[in-house]
Amino acid sequence: MYMIRLNGNKVLVVGLGKRTGLAACNFLSARGYDVTGNDVKDRSDLTEIVEKLNPSVRIVAGHQSPTILNDGFDFVVLSPGVPRSIPLIVEAQKRHIPVISEIELAFRFMKGYIIGITGTDGKSTTTALTGHILKELGEKTIVGGNIGIPLIGLVDSIDDETVSVIELSSFQLETIDSFRPDVAAILNITPDHLDRYANMEEYALAKMRIAKNQKPEDVFVYYADDERIAQYVAHVAATQLTFSLTDDRADAFLCDGAISVRWGGLLHRMLDVREMKLVGLHNALNAMASALMVCAILARMDRPIDFLEIGQCIARFSGLPHRMETLGEFAGRIFINDSKATTVGAVEMAVRNFTGNAVLILGGRTKGDDYSRLAKNLKGKIRALVLIGESQDEFKKIFSEFAPRCADSLEDAVREALSMSHPGDSILLSPACASFDMFTNYEHRGEVFRTIFEKLKRGEISWT
Ligand code: ADP
Repeated sequence: MYMIRLNGNKVLVVGLGKRTGLAACNFLSARGYDVTGNDVKDRSDLTEIVEKLNPSVRIVAGHQSPTILNDGFDFVVLSPGVPRSIPLIVEAQKRHIPVISEIELAFRFMKGYIIGITGTDGKSTTTALTGHILKELGEKTIVGGNIGIPLIGLVDSIDDETVSVIELSSFQLETIDSFRPDVAAILNITPDHLDRYANMEEYALAKMRIAKNQKPEDVFVYYADDERIAQYVAHVAATQLTFSLTDDRADAFLCDGAISVRWGGLLHRMLDVREMKLVGLHNALNAMASALMVCAILARMDRPIDFLEIGQCIARFSGLPHRMETLGEFAGRIFINDSKATTVGAVEMAVRNFTGNAVLILGGRTKGDDYSRLAKNLKGKIRALVLIGESQDEFKKIFSEFAPRCADSLEDAVREALSMSHPGDSILLSPACASFDMFTNYEHRGEVFRTIFEKLKRGEISWT
């Protein structure tokens, strides 16, 4: 039973981003809805999107005035990049016009089984890994949401036997209503997006919405070592499964270096973490979360569970680019591209692997995180620090004890890092910030880093 009824067929899609807004408009217009797409950008800046829009979609561009609503809409689909606090959305709510996310819209049309994954860090890796395991086990699986193709663009390829593995951001979860995953997971909750949320509690509650419609027959997987998640789990109705690095009473934990799962009253050893291509303790955690989710969905589908086979699927997964991705070696230094590390939590995880033998390249557009916490946690982990991006002035003060050097470009940063490092060290791009001050996105930042590494190797850039 849906809480918000989506009666009528006149829809306003707010936020025409290249992915979600576009996909939502085309999905709805293909189903005969009368669709208006709105974006704050001018039409001239939207040409790439407009070209791909179904011609029947009306476009209101260049402003987001609440007067747009005077056209009389039956419901609003809000893209995750647009905050709910803009006057247009506040006014829609005042007028009792339902406002939903694209995820909620997709859910109303979905079939099959749903796994939903959120958390501050590790969402994409864990979503891709979970999808990889299920595909290798022969299940019909789609992977999407906040990773790859927006969920609405995948709905048509889903049938009753499909498992949809969906990455969900807190922004997408803010405007779900009846969305109910069979299996949900929260990987961790650490400070992020505090430029958009009033405080940590508001952010954590947005994440916890993933479980709000779950019933006892559903499964909720969470990181037991995360004190913030622990504060909220009492309100979760689903069956709870935990993973932990420290607690051997959890449903998944490390037993003598092996990922082990407690299932049906027995302890099952899946694989030694050293067999994994993914490196780092954070990836052991992601693998434990994936293992539990796969077991839970197989049980839900009445499939047998082969624990060792799942372990082998995990072992074969080679990870996603831009996440602790080893590019190779130059001048005795290992280059690691962790451009996707846009939070303090992710950088803390990245440097756990080092003992003073890394030069860290840090900085970009800040997101309201507590960077002084990071300064404490870098001690003993890094040899030197190079700062890039618009956060330089702020970071020079916060990280002063590391006597950081500043660089105007990523190429200069790499030169500085090379000059401060020793053979055997790693040069780690793990910025703790968004990339938009210098790059199109984190992928662009990571690709520029990769290109610099390749040019160094070919002798096209000199550093001495
Ligand atoms: P997300 O989609 O949540 O941003 P990713 O899988 O893309 O997560 O990884 C983003 C960054 O977080 C990378 O730097 C990665 O190394 C780091 N990371 C991955 N898993 C975890 C985890 N469980 N805890 C902390 N950091 C993590």
